[in-house]
Amino acid sequence: MSVTATDPTTVAHVLVEALPYIRRFAGKTVVVKYGGNALAGTSDHDALKVFAEDIVLMRLVGMRPVVVHGGGPQISALMERLGKVAEFREGLRVTDAETVDIARMVLIGQVNPQLVTAINLHGNYAVGVSGEDAGLIKATARDQRLGFVGDVTAINPQILDGLLEDEFIPVIATIGTDDTGQAYNINADVVAGAIAEALQAEKLVYLTDIEGLRRDVDDPGSLIRQTTADELDALVADGTIAGGMIPKVASCVQAVRRGVDRAHILDGRIAHVLLLEVFTDAGVGTMVSLTCGEGPHADEGLTTRGLRGRGTQ
Ligand code: ADP
Ligand code: MG
Repeated sequence: MSVTATDPTTVAHVLVEALPYIRRFAGKTVVVKYGGNALAGTSDHDALKVFAEDIVLMRLVGMRPVVVHGGGPQISALMERLGKVAEFREGLRVTDAETVDIARMVLIGQVNPQLVTAINLHGNYAVGVSGEDAGLIKATARDQRLGFVGDVTAINPQILDGLLEDEFIPVIATIGTDDTGQAYNINADVVAGAIAEALQAEKLVYLTDIEGLRRDVDDPGSLIRQTTADELDALVADGTIAGGMIPKVASCVQAVRRGVDRAHILDGRIAHVLLLEVFTDAGVGTMVSLTCGEGPHADEGLTTRGLRGRGTQ
């Protein structure tokens, strides 16, 4: 909807409502993980365009966004075109030497420049980097049976520090290398958490294909609006959190325990969901903090925002 089609009073109200958030988040780092499913979404062809607009707006009001992307469906699509059968064990792709080459081609050669280009339609902001660049992501094999599926062993944020200092938006492809130079494909959820921790980000945001965490995965009415690291540990232990949600939740828990102020799991299918979360009182999706209603910014007068209209259902 264009602004001119909206009631001017509403427009003014929205802008004024954003003011305290713009002030609060100026200069703060926000790591956003954009899922391969969201990118592959065919139902909404504008998803990438809308995502790019949100990231650019965040940058233009003084935030320091960092994008980490996946590309699972795109890797599977190229494997199919090449006549290779994708094999998964416990949700992880079995990755032989040929598959890690394909993952590298797709993530660094296709998905990454797609995101960079979408952002740069608005100006020269985005720079694509892979975990191989300047030793950004060091990795080791997770399990020999899975081949070149990596776990993060270290993040060297030096290249990100430089880019952020120069006001660029880093867009990160999640290929890492070990000490011998072997490349590994790494789950983008895990990388986003590790990068947020290394940068001591204000926020870690996951854009996914569901409205947030559910207490019952089959019940849309069971959305958990606000939760804590301890509660999430319990929900993982009792099996409430499953499948692709496990690495997101584990990464949120670790990040908030290691200095990231807030983590969010949001519905990437909702247009401008990032703006709704960051700049309005509404609060969308699931918000994760270390303890309920507290945090390093509890004295800034905005923490009630996270509680207003929320509460665990
Ligand atoms: P992405 O591409 O964003 O990484 P995933 O498919 O890996 O998406 O992870 C999101 C999926 O996790 C959801 O679509 C949902 O099916 C699943 N899931 C498992 N447990 C839960 C839960 N408790 N609440 C919400 N989603 C869950
Ligand atoms: Mg996933």
